[in-house]
Amino acid sequence: MTVVPVLLYHSVSDDPLPEIAEYNLTRQRFADHVRVIRDSGRTPITFADWVGRMRAAAADPADGISSPERVVVVTFDDGYDNNLSACALLGEHGIPSTVYVTTDYVGRSGFVDEAGLRDLAAIDGVTVGSHAVSHRRLDELPASELGDEVRLSRTRLADVLGRPCETFAYPHGNHGARVRRAVQDAGYASAAGVKNAYSHERDDVYGVARLMATRDWSADQLERFLGNDRPLAPRREKLQTKGYRAYRRVRKRLTEVTS
Ligand SMILES: [Zn+2]
Repeated sequence: MTVVPVLLYHSVSDDPLPEIAEYNLTRQRFADHVRVIRDSGRTPITFADWVGRMRAAAADPADGISSPERVVVVTFDDGYDNNLSACALLGEHGIPSTVYVTTDYVGRSGFVDEAGLRDLAAIDGVTVGSHAVSHRRLDELPASELGDEVRLSRTRLADVLGRPCETFAYPHGNHGARVRRAVQDAGYASAAGVKNAYSHERDDVYGVARLMATRDWSADQLERFLGNDRPLAPRREKLQTKGYRAYRRVRKRLTEVTS
């Protein structure tokens, strides 16, 4: 079982917007995180690549299970203008990233504008995804507004960037069955949730688990999270049980570290 940390960052700044301060990393701390990711022995891959591997494993379970890989995925939510330098730093170290942008925020103070969005997409290894139009809780919206949130954000990003937008991240992590269906119907190939848990091969491609970085995450903590794959249950065990146990084990460890 491949157990994968999909990291979720928001803002990287020494002077963050007050509303995101809890999830903001200083530039120094983020640089330390980049070093830890680079030196973790894990291969950084794109979110799309990880989803592709999940799909391949689902199509061929035995093969997926028999080749555990040590990979790591980096994502950002909301679309802060400081993601430009953060993603560039990641790119310098060969670490790809996916930035989920809330389209109504584009051009607001502290967020990328359309030119910034194009600059972001031009950074080596960067993928731009949608984080809805207005960042409202999608599960509370009537069907028409829900549809608009997922569709209009997708078309705007495609218009600005001149390429299709293939992935979505749920604002506030909410993704009940109805919201998921809307995201699928809008044509996205994948979607990111939060969950504060590790992703794994049996994870949901329309609700990939991510670990959300808070301002308190030290480099040492990140190092522990990235080192968090241990020998797994015996190979002959039923796949479902095996995966679930591995998932529970890392989840428990994560809880111990963060509490
Ligand atoms: Zn968000």
